[in-house]
Amino acid sequence: MQVPASFQYRKATSVEDALTLLRAYGPESAVIAGGHSLLPMMKLRLAHPEALIDINDVDEIAGIRVEDGELVIGALARHADLLACAEAGEHFPILHDAERVIADPVVRNRGTVGGSLCQADPSEDLSAVFAALRATLVVHGPQGTRTVPAREFFVGPYQTVLEQGELLGEIRVPLRESASAYLKVDRRAGDWAVGAVGAVVSVADDVIEEIGIGLTALGAERFVAAEAEDFLRGGPPDGDRFVEAGRIAAARCRPTADQRGPVDYKRHLAGELTTRALCRAVG
Ligand SMILES: Cc1cc2nc3c(=O)[nH]c(=O)nc-3n(C[C@H](O)[C@H](O)[C@H](O)COP(=O)(O)OP(=O)(O)OC[C@H]3O[C@@H](n4cnc5c(N)ncnc54)[C@H](O)[C@@H]3O)c2cc1C
Repeated sequence: MQVPASFQYRKATSVEDALTLLRAYGPESAVIAGGHSLLPMMKLRLAHPEALIDINDVDEIAGIRVEDGELVIGALARHADLLACAEAGEHFPILHDAERVIADPVVRNRGTVGGSLCQADPSEDLSAVFAALRATLVVHGPQGTRTVPAREFFVGPYQTVLEQGELLGEIRVPLRESASAYLKVDRRAGDWAVGAVGAVVSVADDVIEEIGIGLTALGAERFVAAEAEDFLRGGPPDGDRFVEAGRIAAARCRPTADQRGPVDYKRHLAGELTTRALCRAVG
């Protein structure tokens, strides 16, 4: 049986307490939320923090609410909480589309939205979803609180702009008229994506005013298909243009071959899923 190296364990009771503990234990400490990514990495000795700061009792970053025209999702909200939040699904169907296909109920009951984003695994579904939604991430740290656009949060695989001692507090999505959808291809129910695409489209007077296209596990820079978005913005939401947007997204992404499939297949998925997600979003 794999066991992690020894570590110290402290339970934080508030954001301030968590920041104090992170400062006290220094660069070798790590936040633990659901533990569904961090603990397996510790068991495999791919991560070896000397101290774990448990944030599971930090209720102030656990809820989901609408406030000041934004959907506010606490970093500690579980996948299951987001799936159960009717208001979130009504405003942004992409959130429920994605949560329905993330792992299984056991993982969804424990894994957190914030942990998913901070893990920045290229196959993590929510990174592409919040990038497509153009969400803003609220980060607490020793120097105070700062906000980071989701599209600037991800630096590369397993890398974010979070600095040592910082804590992701919440994710904010401005409420606006939009249509959205998320489509995922996996090898079996509950598996990580072979590829997935989310689309968020705002249309006024038959013109696409704003658009977000997020790609999961398909090698898109910062999880988005920026050139396909640029192509669609300002034009009508019609099927031929969605096909062309899919072609652009497929041409620009850089998938890698692995046990889930070869590059050509994943590139094909990028195009097909982009077109289908756009069509499904606008109905
Ligand atoms: C069997 C299995 C199948 C899965 N399938 C999928 C899937 O299909 N799609 C998918 O998207 N995900 C999947 N996951 C991952 C799941 O979504 C996890 O919930 C997610 O990876 C991490 O969330 P967590 O709360 O468990 O984070 P943890 O494991 O606790 O933490 C992950 C990382 O984020 C950091 N961190 C956590 N919270 C914060 C915070 N608030 N501020 C700063 N840093 C923080 C930790 O220090 C750590 O580095 C799967 C996991 C398992 C075990």
